Amino acid sequence: MRVGLGFDVHHLEIGRRLVLGGVEIPSDLGLRGHSDADVICHALIDALLGAAGLGDIGTLFPDTDAAFKDARSLDLLVETVRRCRDAGWRVENVDVTLLAQAPRLAPYRDRIRASLAGALGVEEVAVSVKGKTPDHLGALGRGEGMAAQAVVLIEQAA
Ligand code: MG
Repeated sequence: MRVGLGFDVHHLEIGRRLVLGGVEIPSDLGLRGHSDADVICHALIDALLGAAGLGDIGTLFPDTDAAFKDARSLDLLVETVRRCRDAGWRVENVDVTLLAQAPRLAPYRDRIRASLAGALGVEEVAVSVKGKTPDHLGALGRGEGMAAQAVVLIEQAA
């Protein structure tokens, strides 16, 4: 077994789509980035790559590469899982915390869990997604961006 930790943060800006865990969420503000800037998927990708010893998201999917412009990060997560599988690993479970002042995550949690479970190839019970507000502290608390943390456990496939 191996464990991996991932973190990501993106600015919020007007006129961008807000995509979290592959689910589009109605919002005037969206995350800014080269891809769809899905912080949950990005944190999970780094956690998986860290666990498998396969590098990091910037190495695999560089934001200088036009191929990943406006990329759907859920697709990048699927590709990451494929690479882990090729290296002999399968996902056991994941746990994600989204740090955002708004919107509330609860109404979207089940859809995000289902979306991530599909990408990771695990049951929904193996996918935990938690929302946490920064209590109005700092840049995240002013709603200038969102951050996500992820931890994953992978096991050697039989
Ligand atoms: Mg990112």
